[in-house]
Amino acid sequence: KKIIIAKDVVKTFPNGVKALKKVSMDVSYGEVVVVIGPSGSGKSTLLRTLNFLEPINEGEIIIDGISLTDPKTNINKVREEVGMVFQQFNLFPHMNALENITIAPTTVRKVSKSEAEKTAIQLLEKVGLADRATSFPSQLSGGQQQRVAIARALAMKPKIMLFDEPTSALDPEMIGEVLEVMKTLAKEGMTMVVVTHEMGFAREVADRVIFMDEGEIIETNTPIELFKNP
Ligand code: ADP
Ligand code: ADP
Repeated sequence: KKIIIAKDVVKTFPNGVKALKKVSMDVSYGEVVVVIGPSGSGKSTLLRTLNFLEPINEGEIIIDGISLTDPKTNINKVREEVGMVFQQFNLFPHMNALENITIAPTTVRKVSKSEAEKTAIQLLEKVGLADRATSFPSQLSGGQQQRVAIARALAMKPKIMLFDEPTSALDPEMIGEVLEVMKTLAKEGMTMVVVTHEMGFAREVADRVIFMDEGEIIETNTPIELFKNP
């Protein structure tokens, strides 16, 4: 059973760059798919089309049975089911960790403040930051900020998590702590699409690896097959 289906997706930017040239891929419930490929190959664009941060020119995207290209679809509703974590953590600088995590559930979902805070504290524990609830982003390391960003995405109880180079902006010593949180999510059965250069993570955690080049999927394979020495 597929939770993500992308069919013949074409994305051309207004400047004429063809970032995606008829890309088709799908992801099953609970699957972890890692997307690799050279810079500029369309990885980030593909990820952004999956929750319609980038509208597409041609093709179709179906998330959990709902077509994003159907004009009747409420895109914002579907987007709530898809959590996204960016290279730059994008936390709200004037809010502490707890407030960053509770803001979307309380405003978008109308969850009560006490309920949202209870969930946020559980999520902070999950990402190993139970003692940093009142810290502001500027008081946290990059690795800690990224873990708060993951907790913030999880607070909306998404069915899918998209990660766009989540460790690329981190100092090397902080990469491991973020990957550990992602591994835990994968083990718990979260459906994940991860753009990353961390080949160890791909080998260890991915069910499938997609290799992109120049706006096309060149190969899709299990990590064992893809990384096999020729
Ligand atoms: P990757 O994530 O693999 O590095 P991207 O998806 O970011 O690749 O980019 C794919 C191509 O699309 C690149 O040529 C990039 O310069 C171009 N591109 C990305 N975003 C935009 C944009 N907003 N406007 C124009 N071109 C873009
Ligand atoms: P990433 O691969 O993480 O998206 P990029 O440096 O490719 O990083 O893109 C950063 C931002 O700049 C994105 O919002 C992307 O859409 C935009 N962008 C990338 N390439 C271009 C381009 N050639 N023209 C305009 N915007 C671009």
